[in-house]
Amino acid sequence: MPTVLLIEDDEENRKRIALLFARHDWDVIEAEDGAAGIDLALTQRPSLVVCDLLLPRISGLQVCRAIREKLALPKIIVMASRVYDIDRKAVVEAGGDDYFLKPLTWKKIAGAIKRPRRPTQKLIPRQSRALKVHPPSTRIKFWGVRGSIPVPGPSTIGYGGNTTCVEVRIDGDIIILDAGSGIRELGLALEQEFGAAPINLTLLLTHTHWDHIQGLPFFLPAYKAKNSIRVLGYEGARAGLATILAAQMEVPFFPVSLRDLPGTIKIQELKRMEFSVGKVRVRARFLNHPGVCAGYRLFTPDGSISFLPDNEPFEPLKLKLAARDGTHPHRARAQAAVQRSKLVEFLKDSDILIIDSQYTDEKYQERIGWGHGALSRVVSLALESKVKKLFLFHHDPMSDDHKIDKMLERARLMVLESGRKLEVEAAREGAEIWLSGPFASRSVTRHLPDGQRRS
Ligand SMILES: [Zn+2]
Ligand SMILES: [Zn+2]
Repeated sequence: MPTVLLIEDDEENRKRIALLFARHDWDVIEAEDGAAGIDLALTQRPSLVVCDLLLPRISGLQVCRAIREKLALPKIIVMASRVYDIDRKAVVEAGGDDYFLKPLTWKKIAGAIKRPRRPTQKLIPRQSRALKVHPPSTRIKFWGVRGSIPVPGPSTIGYGGNTTCVEVRIDGDIIILDAGSGIRELGLALEQEFGAAPINLTLLLTHTHWDHIQGLPFFLPAYKAKNSIRVLGYEGARAGLATILAAQMEVPFFPVSLRDLPGTIKIQELKRMEFSVGKVRVRARFLNHPGVCAGYRLFTPDGSISFLPDNEPFEPLKLKLAARDGTHPHRARAQAAVQRSKLVEFLKDSDILIIDSQYTDEKYQERIGWGHGALSRVVSLALESKVKKLFLFHHDPMSDDHKIDKMLERARLMVLESGRKLEVEAAREGAEIWLSGPFASRSVTRHLPDGQRRS
């Protein structure tokens, strides 16, 4: 007697389908969730698996993948109460054989059993191959350089209007820093580059303010079963990382939920301040910004990259708070100095520093306590930390191209007046920086693709 495994959390539907099979002389085993279903499939080896698409915790797609990675034999039928083509495609990509709308009838089941397996149905391997097209090198590319909210339009076309997203490639390994609206374009570029090959990448989040995660629902690689995305970040201020990322994709805001995305997405909350991503050692530090917000320093074989997209100088905020609660300004200054020296230590000798420089000094006076940087304090921090190259970043939505040009000029003037050495640039969408490889010796910054070279 053939055996079917039914994986369905809706008990009524499960019993109904079990009855259909029993009437046609099948042995039936049942599981209420994906984890139990995978266990039973691997131990009982049924000849057919019928699985719901939207199971709690482990989705039907993950069930397909887990079974198919180990077993070639059972035919897998996935059922769902929705009709999107993207779901049907995802099921096939995950190793499923058929996709049916509920309710499942015996006619559909019998047809599926009779149909021979698709010859093309080979699981795409999960391991990403190392990229051959890139020479051994470390490269940074800016996909979003803005803070707070995307501001596309004619006045921001030079530096770009997308919110925070930076790609770092180290010998073909991909690390993405933050998932602001810039990650959408990055996703399109990655899919074009990899084609049918799987993409393996790590997304490192500094914090969950919306300008740093809002692009994730539009990140194309997450919609392809061939890809694996590891998301790393610290716990949010009021909820866990996974909860926050899922929340922005809940029904009132977005039509596709995070758990239904066909790509394998693993969200891991960081607990330590030092860890590794592939061969890159990463050091983290919490910054002066509302909520839980980390800065990262990536130690690549070609030099270190410090990324602090949201950060406010310590002293003005301390003084403001001191004035409010009666602390002596002396004490406030001393406390701020201690914190600042720890930050200098963290940044010491960075090859690249990408840092929140949202406001001019004048504007910052009106914005103390908003959690963002002020130009001259950013420059002096970089000088004191002996950084080699500074990128002004997280541009204010109110700053048009002209204003950012002026801020850049001012920053360079400050460096000149200091008599010390520091290269300064304003981060610009599409700009690439090579820490090694064919472009590094010629010019550290290569602007793409519109030829609006500024340096
Ligand atoms: Zn921000
Ligand atoms: Zn923020």
